[in-house]
Amino acid sequence: MQSDQDRLEHARAVWEGHLRTCRSCAGSSGTCQSAKLLRRSYNSLLRAAGDGGRLPEANA
Ligand SMILES: [Zn+2]
Repeated sequence: MQSDQDRLEHARAVWEGHLRTCRSCAGSSGTCQSAKLLRRSYNSLLRAAGDGGRLPEANA
């Protein structure tokens, strides 16, 4: 069973991993649609955690 914190960490890891490995995001052509969706899901988990921003905001 995953805690909210685990899901939050996982969402962030997936998003950050994408930024490093995606040709568009890691290159000069900017953040792709997938990265925006990943960031959105991370941010919504962050808000759902609702503990006043203990973790850094996701700004890509
Ligand atoms: Zn990307």
